[in-house]
Amino acid sequence: MSTIEKLNNFIDGSWIESSASKILEVHNPATAEVLVNVPLSPAEDVDRAAKMAAAAFHEWRRVPAPIRIQYLFRLKNLLEEHFEELASTVTMENGKTLDDSRGELRRAIENVEVACGIPTMMLGDFSEDITRGVDEYMIRQPVGVAAIICPFNFPAMIPFWYLPYAVACGNTVIVKPSERTPLTMHKVFQLLEEVKFPKGVVNLVNGVPETVDAILDHPLIQAVTFVGSTAVARHVYGRASANGKRVQAQGGAKNPLIILPDADVSLTTSIVTDSAFGNAGQRCLAASLAITVGEASQIFTPALAEAAASRVVGYGLDKGVQMGPVITPQSKSRIEGLIEKGLEEGAKLVVDGRDAVVSGYERGNFLRPTILSGIPRGGTIARTEIFGPVLGMLHVDSVEEAIALVNSGEYGNMACVFTSSGAAARKFRYEAEAGNIGINIGVAAPMAFFPFSGWKNSFFGTLHAQGKHGVEFFTQTKVVVERWLGEWSRKF
Ligand code: NAD
Repeated sequence: MSTIEKLNNFIDGSWIESSASKILEVHNPATAEVLVNVPLSPAEDVDRAAKMAAAAFHEWRRVPAPIRIQYLFRLKNLLEEHFEELASTVTMENGKTLDDSRGELRRAIENVEVACGIPTMMLGDFSEDITRGVDEYMIRQPVGVAAIICPFNFPAMIPFWYLPYAVACGNTVIVKPSERTPLTMHKVFQLLEEVKFPKGVVNLVNGVPETVDAILDHPLIQAVTFVGSTAVARHVYGRASANGKRVQAQGGAKNPLIILPDADVSLTTSIVTDSAFGNAGQRCLAASLAITVGEASQIFTPALAEAAASRVVGYGLDKGVQMGPVITPQSKSRIEGLIEKGLEEGAKLVVDGRDAVVSGYERGNFLRPTILSGIPRGGTIARTEIFGPVLGMLHVDSVEEAIALVNSGEYGNMACVFTSSGAAARKFRYEAEAGNIGINIGVAAPMAFFPFSGWKNSFFGTLHAQGKHGVEFFTQTKVVVERWLGEWSRKF
């Protein structure tokens, strides 16, 4: 009999066994060890969670905002107390380095801190005497039950782009973590249990696409947030919108960086390689294409090659490691297949990261950083989201050509420029078609008080994650026009 734990769902304040008949094994991507089993919760588990969350909403929305945020203050303290344990969990199930795990957890906590400002952020508007003796005002009310559907690559941070704002605004939530990285949220929900939110305010349902579809169709769920690949984001947006829900769905990316000849060589090299190979390239803000302008190609191709080849690859929990494995063996073969296809299409290998074996971790899904140059503009490496440690290089003669190339892509999650020219940077900032822009920055990840602004096929919806956008998404406006008879309206 297996001694591996099977995760439970957390519904209505209790840990409840899923009614799923099937489970998936969750593997440590560096060691291949089975960490835990995750249930593939069917529609009836979603139904149970939705009913409990809807019942809890009735009371939770009546709890005054200054009291609601007290729960978040407690959560923030617990997250700080368990910071290292949670960071290690992220590394164990996702593979990223401990420092990267700490970074994402810090951003998660920052979102809790920002949401503690809800009493101010949720304020309405008031206009006195819109006509004699008549006032008009707008109040923000919570939407109801919100579902939060998450990807594997930021198991701690992405649920926190939404959960703190949703509950602080008076909604109740159901979180559906990635089936490949469910342990971190399991641990976070153990902390949420200690926070003692009223029953049904925060719920956790583990599962797979079938679970997601049950969420998208459930009549008691009013709002859906999604982060994942573009194909699924499009599906989620279409199906949940057709069912009358408000939806925001963040999709995939193919992030280009432009490098001008006047960019600082050592800083740019270090920033670009951190962006391309940090988290093994499994960041939605990972640099995927480096577009060199003019002489930048001669300067930066060898510099980037040297930095990529010397990157320390290994188990993220080990000291000195700069890059961990990719998430699954299937993902590793998919990435190797894309490199192969790129070579068939005419790309040249500057650094070859295939066939990587890390001593002591022979069963891990390791690749080493790979750089391909001379990639065809319309080809696989230039256009496909690889989601692995692969940087494609393209060369152009002018900034105008580089910006046109950036804007020809189907995605718009992030675009960056490296230069010491203010004029070139401003032109780029103004014209680049992407929602997150970096200027001498390689991962332009917005702080919790700014929206995470994907464009084009990287985002479906209107309001983005985090900050004020989160408050708008998780509230609906109500406008009241009010007259009281008496002295104010005597002349009416
Ligand atoms: P994914 O799309 O495979 O899965 C995301 C979630 O959707 C999971 O919870 C999964 O269970 C569910 N899902 C998968 N297939 C489904 C289907 N057919 N129907 C319904 N639900 C389904 O994404 P992933 O591999 O976990 O994450 C990587 C992707 O996420 C990359 O494309 C990356 O760019 C993207 N991402 C985007 C952002 C952003 O802000 N734009 C941030 C992080 C990750």
